Amino acid sequence: MVQNMTVSFLGTGSGAPTADRFFSSTILHLAERHLLVDAGEPCVHLLKDRGDVLQETSTILITHGHVDHIGGLPALLQGCKLSGRSALLEVYLPEEMIAPLRAWISALYLPEEGLGFPVNWIGWKNGVQSDLGDEITVTAHRNGHLDSCYRQRPGADSSRPCDSYSLEVESGDCRVIFSGDLASPQELSPFLDRPIQLLITELAHFTLGELADALQNASVETLCLVHLADEYAGERSEVKMQMEELLPKINDVILPEDGEVLDF
Ligand SMILES: [Zn+2]
Repeated sequence: MVQNMTVSFLGTGSGAPTADRFFSSTILHLAERHLLVDAGEPCVHLLKDRGDVLQETSTILITHGHVDHIGGLPALLQGCKLSGRSALLEVYLPEEMIAPLRAWISALYLPEEGLGFPVNWIGWKNGVQSDLGDEITVTAHRNGHLDSCYRQRPGADSSRPCDSYSLEVESGDCRVIFSGDLASPQELSPFLDRPIQLLITELAHFTLGELADALQNASVETLCLVHLADEYAGERSEVKMQMEELLPKINDVILPEDGEVLDF
């Protein structure tokens, strides 16, 4: 069965703050559910701006623990509390982030017992499919983004797990891939064995040509490019044109704006 879905791009910026784009967060509206993928700032304001979506968001899927993907989570919890939420909130995230994140929330005078709603913290298990209910599943596939971004840096804790994930959300024939941040576009290859309705990928840690090479034989209906490197952020129509030329089999190449809503 082909599902209708809508994607609301709340923040499409990269990790470098700019005046005109927010950090990473996207809502996938599917089977009457709202799934928030990444919780970069200021996601609570942007969810609140969409009426009941803040309260009705059942599930948050965090790709990795960089601040531009997770930094808006405490304010989101506070926003839910102040809006009188009582429904369970499920948060899927790298296992290693759960304890420090809960400690941070507690340090912000937001004890979980006082939120007024339960939070279920669920650590990703690499390659294992989770059932989100309403015939929606999500599978997290570990990638090397944090290994490449963190481990080689001065001061890095070599014993610390560096788990970052790409996410595969499926419902019926609908298959959506969120790249999260990657070490290389080759890390998308495990997803390319079957048709993808929507691929939302970053373009900050590799070149446009490398991405096009990785997707050369892919069956992708719509390709959305987000989280653009500075060198591409100012050349958006040029990037779109080049990708369309390099990947003629892809129906649609879109570089969404913050706030843009796409129906599929
Ligand atoms: Zn990152």
